[in-house]
Amino acid sequence: AAKAGGRNRFNCFTREMQDRAIHRMEMIKDLRIALDEGQFSLNYQPIFCLKSRRLHKAEALIRWNHPDKGLIRPDAFIPLAEEVFLISAIGGWVFEEACRAVKVLRTQYGESFQISVNLSPAQFSDADHNLLHWLPKMQQQGLDGSAIVAEITEGMLMNSDAASLEKLLAFRDGGIQVALDDFGTGYSSLAYIQEYDIDYIKIDRAFVKNLAADSDSYALCEAIIVMAHKLGIKVIAEGIETEQQLELLIAANCDYGQGFLFSPAVELETFSQLAPIFDAAD
Ligand code: C2E
Ligand code: MG
Ligand code: MG
Ligand code: MG
Repeated sequence: AAKAGGRNRFNCFTREMQDRAIHRMEMIKDLRIALDEGQFSLNYQPIFCLKSRRLHKAEALIRWNHPDKGLIRPDAFIPLAEEVFLISAIGGWVFEEACRAVKVLRTQYGESFQISVNLSPAQFSDADHNLLHWLPKMQQQGLDGSAIVAEITEGMLMNSDAASLEKLLAFRDGGIQVALDDFGTGYSSLAYIQEYDIDYIKIDRAFVKNLAADSDSYALCEAIIVMAHKLGIKVIAEGIETEQQLELLIAANCDYGQGFLFSPAVELETFSQLAPIFDAAD
């Protein structure tokens, strides 16, 4: 009986693995056609200046409208796209789409309005899709570098080769600002960040989630903000969902904020209807 049970468990395990492998292969096949068929779309989440209350930026977040599976969120396909080297092509499309959107939004929210796009480390190391082509492409469209903010992760700073880091510095020279995403979840130190001339730190929503007066998270956010400001870096808080979190972040001198309290990521047409200033209960 023990032997039979063992074999069944083994069979069960392999079937599950087989299902997963088939699903994976289907996803890879579908990803390859998604770009050609125009199945991706970009949603935009507003980022407000917490001091002036002005709508100042938007983060572009990709969505996949799969013909059979419906809407797929990025966490379910971006890692796969990175693995099979499709991320640069997808990232190129994201960039073009964001340029189109920022032109529209600048006429509406002012010429300093910016759109931030998320970049995978693989996009920096890919020689076939050279990121340095972004700058002349922006120039051709009459956009200065400041129209786009590049959101990178701590892993990108820590693990990249010299050529990738050069590209990051070239971005900076071309006026494209750099934001460090999900700050606090990785290992990099603020001293390391100073070396790469980062413009923004985005405090991960894990810290914002637990914000309460006298909490450890509050002490942490406050300390990050003080140190960032000493290094000339602005701070964006992610995942603000409550008035209380907003008030605490304002009290801690945080520069910018985004989160469901203001709005989730929405389509461009919906975004265009957002008020240019948020009202706060005070
Ligand atoms: P991220 O860059 O940290 O983006 C923030 C995520 O938090 C988004 O999830 C956003 O919808 C979500 N969010 C915003 N405000 C709140 C809030 O108040 N509460 C909660 N619970 N969540 C909030 P999303 O859109 O599912 O994106 C997940 C991740 O996928 C992004 O995390 C980013 O790392 C990646 N991603 C998205 N678009 C792209 C892209 O075009 N290229 C690359 N390489 N990665 C992307
Ligand atoms: Mg991001
Ligand atoms: Mg983030
Ligand atoms: Mg995140």
